[in-house]
Amino acid sequence: MSTVQILENVQNFMNRSHGHFIHGKTVQNTHESRINIINPATEQRVATIADADQATVDQAVKSAHDAFVNAWASVSPYERSLKLNKLADLVEQHSEELAQLETLTSGKLIMISRHLEVAQTVIFLRHFASCATKIHGQTIQPSLPSMQGEKYTAVTLRQPVGVVAGIIPWNFSLMIGAWKIGSALTTGCTIVVKPSEFTSLSLLRLAELALKAGIPAGVINVVTGTGKTGQYLIDSPLVKKISFTGSVPTGISIGKQAMHNDLKRVSLELGGKNAAAILPDVSIDEILPLLIQSTFVHQGQVCAAPERFFVHQSKYDEFVEKAAQILKQLKIGSPLDESVVFGPLSNQPHFEKVKHYLKMAQDQIITGGHVIDTQGYFVEPTLVKVENIEDPLFIEETFGPIVTVIPFENEVELISMMNHSRFGLSASIWSNDLSKVFRLIPQIEAGSIWVNMHTFLDPAVPFGGVKASGVGREFSDAFIDDYTELKSVMIRY
Ligand code: NDP
Repeated sequence: MSTVQILENVQNFMNRSHGHFIHGKTVQNTHESRINIINPATEQRVATIADADQATVDQAVKSAHDAFVNAWASVSPYERSLKLNKLADLVEQHSEELAQLETLTSGKLIMISRHLEVAQTVIFLRHFASCATKIHGQTIQPSLPSMQGEKYTAVTLRQPVGVVAGIIPWNFSLMIGAWKIGSALTTGCTIVVKPSEFTSLSLLRLAELALKAGIPAGVINVVTGTGKTGQYLIDSPLVKKISFTGSVPTGISIGKQAMHNDLKRVSLELGGKNAAAILPDVSIDEILPLLIQSTFVHQGQVCAAPERFFVHQSKYDEFVEKAAQILKQLKIGSPLDESVVFGPLSNQPHFEKVKHYLKMAQDQIITGGHVIDTQGYFVEPTLVKVENIEDPLFIEETFGPIVTVIPFENEVELISMMNHSRFGLSASIWSNDLSKVFRLIPQIEAGSIWVNMHTFLDPAVPFGGVKASGVGREFSDAFIDDYTELKSVMIRY
């Protein structure tokens, strides 16, 4: 294990004066201001990107619309599938380059960039490729009796909605970008992607690879910029659907804006305050390694990762002591060091937010709780005890490596505390008592529930939140409804 050397083509790519990727070309609009891309491990600037204004967004949307009407519409589902698979091949071939770009801009450990972000990008693109040839309507026997002896029948068609705007957060830019791109392209839509201003580089590179994969110019466009750029996209009349992943406040504001734009379609994958319930029958030694890994992956900046541990009172002391021991031993350091297991937070505003929560937690800390006195946005993985379920640390999403732990006495109390949240993205139950597990599952308010595992996404399994954690579902074939219109046709003969 060693510290990774930055590839020459990664260095060259970062040194470029980046523009937007519109209609198969880099577009530089020189009047636009520039945004610095900071490496969160060093606080050094590694690149700059452009901050798209209204005219640039209009240009990108027009390109996507032209490509929808003139190019992508005539590409058969089979060819769409081939091209998405070709893109997956190219991502695989350029995996180290893409992994390094992600690590340098998001602070993600290089091992996570390689084996989770880039590897999952390939897997998801292949899944979406396989869906292109499986989009279908129904044949329906009409239910009303024929008036004059004529016959009639009905069919439904699924048609692409048109131009999609994909708005992406900073935690897994490439992979979440690929979810939106794959969903759009396989259903016959075209897309304009707006990555987070902190982590735009990997998606700019992916768009170049898509052109090499034979995906026609304009089918995938990338505009970089701030939240304002996202707002221009939502207001654009040629954009027919918004697919957003990000925080609850931004999601609510986007939802309102979309409704004000003639009820524009919108799907929202938002935040969580996810619960992990540790029942009395489990061995703490057996579950802790996987639970800790699932919780602190990418420094806890994972929407589905747990932030609230509920431990049966008979196991609480043992759990707290052993979890603290493991957390103290995690090697913290440079995300480019392959032996490190805990890196920096992804950006300065988020670092400030997490520091605020650490300060709030000072009297309740079991382990961790400190900012690390070094260059970069480093804090310790932190476990916090909570006695009152109205405690803001129990209620608010920190989206960082701060996890609360609370004991419970019985199932009724457990369910009531787990559901005491505006969020409902994911939850897990750790137990080998299957009848108890099946009794609990329907009572938990969450879109995904894992048993003896957590934070594990599979393209074959639908994913999305209930309550304030979102609207709509990604993956499996559940996403198809969101990217297509259902048209009903009745035929008399
Ligand atoms: P934000 O909501 O702050 O931003 C998400 C994206 O929206 C960014 O590209 C951002 O641009 C853009 N944006 C910000 N304001 C607006 C606006 N008014 N209109 C349109 N676009 C806007 O989320 P973060 O990037 O901070 O990501 C963290 C959040 O994402 C957490 O809450 C996390 O739980 C959630 N998340 C949910 C996932 C899920 O699948 N449910 C998966 C991953 C993350 P810019 O970055 O330039 O501000």
